Amino acid sequence: MILGAGPAGLTAGWEAMRSSFSAVVYERDDCVGGISRTVEHNGYHFDIGGHRFFTKVTEVEAIWHEILADDMLVRPRLSRIYYDGKMFDYPIRPLNALRGLGPIEAIRVGLSFLHAQIFPSREERTFEQWVSNRFGRRLFEIFFKTYTEKVWGMDCSEIRADWAAQRIKDLDLVKTLRHALLGRFATRGPVATSLIEHFHYPRKGPGQLWERCSEILAEKGIDTHLGHEVVTVRREGRHVTHVALRAPQGAGEERPVMLEADGDHFISSLALKDLLTRMEPAPPAEVLDAANRLRYRDFLTVALAIDEPDLFPDNWIYIHAPEVRVGRIQNFGNWSPEMLPLTDTSSLGLEYFVQEGDDLWSMKDSELIELAARECEQLGFIRRDQVVDGAVVRMPKAYPVYDPGYREALDTVRRWLDGFDNLTCVGRNGQHRYNNQDHSMVTSLRAVRNLRGAGLDIWDVNVEDDYHEEVNPDAAKGPQSDPTEFEPRGDRLVPGRVDAQLPEGLIQPVFARYDAHALGVAVAVLFGLGLFVATSTLLLAGGDPMGPTLSLLGIVLFGFEVSWPGMLVGIGEASLLGYAFGQLVARTINRVVGWQERLFRSRLELVRASALTD
Ligand SMILES: Cc1cc2nc3c(=O)[nH]c(=O)nc-3n(C[C@H](O)[C@H](O)[C@H](O)COP(=O)(O)OP(=O)(O)OC[C@H]3O[C@@H](n4cnc5c(N)ncnc54)[C@H](O)[C@@H]3O)c2cc1C
Repeated sequence: MILGAGPAGLTAGWEAMRSSFSAVVYERDDCVGGISRTVEHNGYHFDIGGHRFFTKVTEVEAIWHEILADDMLVRPRLSRIYYDGKMFDYPIRPLNALRGLGPIEAIRVGLSFLHAQIFPSREERTFEQWVSNRFGRRLFEIFFKTYTEKVWGMDCSEIRADWAAQRIKDLDLVKTLRHALLGRFATRGPVATSLIEHFHYPRKGPGQLWERCSEILAEKGIDTHLGHEVVTVRREGRHVTHVALRAPQGAGEERPVMLEADGDHFISSLALKDLLTRMEPAPPAEVLDAANRLRYRDFLTVALAIDEPDLFPDNWIYIHAPEVRVGRIQNFGNWSPEMLPLTDTSSLGLEYFVQEGDDLWSMKDSELIELAARECEQLGFIRRDQVVDGAVVRMPKAYPVYDPGYREALDTVRRWLDGFDNLTCVGRNGQHRYNNQDHSMVTSLRAVRNLRGAGLDIWDVNVEDDYHEEVNPDAAKGPQSDPTEFEPRGDRLVPGRVDAQLPEGLIQPVFARYDAHALGVAVAVLFGLGLFVATSTLLLAGGDPMGPTLSLLGIVLFGFEVSWPGMLVGIGEASLLGYAFGQLVARTINRVVGWQERLFRSRLELVRASALTD
C-alpha cells in the first residue's frame, strides 16, 4: 500500500507496476502530484512554484520521457533578482551587481567586503555569519537577507550555516569556475543545478506528468484513490497492520466515510510528523516528542491572469524588496506557452512563504488576490486594471525546516522507524529532506526494489551520481553500504566550510607564488656574474683610464673600482643587492597574486552561493 500520490508515491506505484506487484495508492487531496501538481483555473495552468525538471539520474529522466514522450519540452531559463527597482542577474555576477547598485552603494559594498576580510566573524555557525564572512555584511543584506527570511520565516542569524553548505554542494565546481571567470556564456551542456540554462518541462506543467503516470498505473490495475486521507496508522509493535482512511462522502451521506485498509507492506510519503502522530498505539514518548519537533514552512501561490502578453522575459524573478511580502514571481507562459488559454495573455504566480494559520494563510482568497495585484503594480510589472482573474492555492508543509534541533529529532525518529519490518518512508517530507522530485523518486525506486531483496539504503540516496540498479549480493547482511556504489549521504548536512570543497588542483597552479629566496639567489647570481663579466672584460682589454663608465658603479657599490680586488668587493655587494632586489620583487608579486586569488575565491563563492536562493 502506497500513502500519498506525489512524485514519491506514484514512482513507488510505477516501480511496483514494473515489478508486477499489486499495489494501491491513497491520496488525501483531490488531485495527484503533491507539491509537484499543476492547478488549472479557467484554462490557466500554474505550479506550486515553478518546477524545473533536471536530474543527473538517468533512470529518473528515462521515466519522465517514457511517461510523457513528446509532451516533455526543453525550455530556456532566465531568472533575475529584483532589488530597489532594478533587475540583477541571477546567479549573481559581481560586475553586473556593482553596476546596478550604483557608485555609492558599490563603495559601501566594497568597504564592507574589506571589513569582512580583515575582521571576519570568528564563529561561522549561522547563515548570516557564513555569507557575511564571504561577501561582506552589505552584500548579505542586499542579496541574501530579505529573500531568505521571507522563505524561511526566521532571522538569518537563526538559520544554520550548514544549510548554505548543503545548498551549494550540488554545484559542479569546474563549471562554476568557468562561469565565475567567463560569465554565463561559459556554461554549456549539463551543468550544476543553479546554473542550468535549459531544463525539461511538461507541456502543461508538472501535474501533467503525474496525472499521466496515475492513468498508466490505473490501466495496469494500480488505482489511486483521491480524497482518501490516512487518519490512523495501526501497528502491533513495529509492524503496521492497517490504516484508517477518511474517504469522500458520497451523495446523501452526512459524514465522511471511514474505511480500514490493510496491506503487506506500507510505503509512506506522508510527512514524518503526520505519520508518527497518527500511529495507534502512539510511538514511545521520546519518539513522538522528536516527531513533534520537526518543523515545516508552508507556501501560498496567488495566480493572476493578466490581459497582456510579454510582461517580462524571465521564467521567474526573486523579489528582494522588503517593502512587499511576495517572495518570488513566476511567469508561467514563459515556462510553457500551453500554460495559457489565450496567447495574448499572461499568468503570473506570486509566491508567499507563510506559516499555516498566520495572517496571510488566513486571509480570504479575494483579499489575497487584491494584495498580489497591488504588490505587482507597486513593483512596476503590471497595472492593477490589467488583472482579469485570480486564484489561490495553499500548500501546507512545502518545505521541511532545518532548524538547530532538526537533525537530532530526525535521527531519533529514524532510529525508531528502522525497526519496522513492513514500513518504508520515502520522499521529501517522508524523510524530512529539502530535495527535488528526482530525489523523492529514487527513494521510492529503492523502497520497491528492497521488497525484492535489493538491500538498498533509502536514507542515503545521492542524486548527484547516476543511479544504477545494482542488486546488492550482500542484501541479507543489511542495508547497502558500499560507498563506491552509492555514496552515503547521511553526513550531508554537517556544516562544512566551502574552502574545503574548492578545486585546489585547478586554483593553485593559476595563483602560484614565487619562492622569494630562490628569486633572490637567482638575481644575486645574475648581478654578480654580470659585474664579473663586465669588469674582467675591461681589465683584460686594458686602457687608460680603465672603464670610466663602469667605475661610476662605485657610487652605489662602496669600494668598487675596475681592478681585480675592486671587482671582488663589487661582486659581493652586487650579489647582496641582487638578493634583496629579487626578494622584494617576489614578495611584491606574491602580494598582488594573493590579493587576486582572494578576490577570485570570493567571486567564485558568490556565484556558487547564488544557489542558496533557489
Ligand atoms: C516552491 C517549490 C518549488 C519547487 N521546485 C522544484 C523544481 O523546480 N524541481 C523539482 O524537481 N522539485 C521542485 N520542488 C520540490 C518538489 O515539489 C518535491 O520534491 C516533490 O513534490 C516531493 O514529492 P513527494 O512525493 O516526496 O512529496 P509531496 O509532493 O509532498 O507529495 C506527498 C503527497 O502525500 C499526500 N498526503 C499527505 N498527507 C496525507 C495523508 N494523511 N493521507 C493521504 N495522503 C497524504 C499529499 O497530499 C501529497 O500528494 C519544489 C518545491 C517547492 C515547495
